[in-house]
Amino acid sequence: MARKIIIAGNWKLNKTAAETAAVITELKGLVADVTAAEIVICPTFTSLTAAVEAAAGSNVQIGAQNVAWAESGAFTGEISAEMLKETGVTWAITGHSERRQYFNETDATVNARTKAALKAGLKVMLCVGETLEEREDEITNAVCEIQIRRGLKGISAEDMANIVIAYEPVWAIGTGKTATPEMADETHKACRDVVEAIYGIEVAEAVRLQYGGSMKGANSAQLVGQTNIDGGLVGGASLVPSDFTALIKNAI
Ligand code: PEP
Repeated sequence: MARKIIIAGNWKLNKTAAETAAVITELKGLVADVTAAEIVICPTFTSLTAAVEAAAGSNVQIGAQNVAWAESGAFTGEISAEMLKETGVTWAITGHSERRQYFNETDATVNARTKAALKAGLKVMLCVGETLEEREDEITNAVCEIQIRRGLKGISAEDMANIVIAYEPVWAIGTGKTATPEMADETHKACRDVVEAIYGIEVAEAVRLQYGGSMKGANSAQLVGQTNIDGGLVGGASLVPSDFTALIKNAI
C-alpha cells in the first residue's frame, strides 16, 4: 500500500508570530511544487493564527505542539482542541519527549490529549521513543510498544486514519546523533507490528510512521527511503525555509 510521505516541522519554543508569518510565507513559495508529501508546520500557540493566515491557500498545513485533554475548566495554561480548531489548525502533536521529560507528560495524559484532539476533528502526530539508557538496556521495542499501546488505548481503528506515529529516539533529538536508517527502520517495523497486533494488518499497513531525531537535508533521503519510514518530524532543520525545503525535496 502506498503511504503518502508526511514531513512536519516542530518549531518548539522558537519564533514570534511576525517571524512565523515571514518564514511560512517564504517556505510556501519554495515548496509550492511539492505534491508527493504532506507538509505541516507546528509553531508556538501564540503564532498559530499568524501561521494559518500565512499558509492559507498553500500546501503547508499548520499544527499545534500540544493540546489539552479537557474541553474547558480549571486547567491553567492549557489550550483545548476546540480552541485550536478555531485558529484553523488541522494537526496536533502529542507525547513529544520534551513534554514527557520536562512537563511530566505520561502515557495516560498523552492518550487523553490524543482522544481530545480526535474528538474535535484534529489529526494527531503521536510521539514515542526510547532514551539512550533504554536503548543500551536493549528495551527499545518494549518501550515503544508500551507507549503505543497506552497512547492508543480506547482509540478506534477508524480513528487511526487520523493518527501518525512519530518514532523519535530521545537520544537523537537535537543532539546531531541520528539513528542509522537501518536501525530506525527496524524500530519502525516493530512499531508497525504493534499497530498490527492491536488493529490488524490493514490499519498497520496504512498507518504512517515518521522518524524524528536530527533529520536534515543530508540524511532525509536515506531515512525516508526505508520501507517503514513514511516521513519525518523535524526540529532544528525545519526552522530555516531553504534547509527544510532541501530536506523535503531530498526525501520525496
Ligand atoms: C523534534 O523536535 O521532534 C526533533 C526531532 O528535533 P531535531 O530534529 O532537532 O532533532
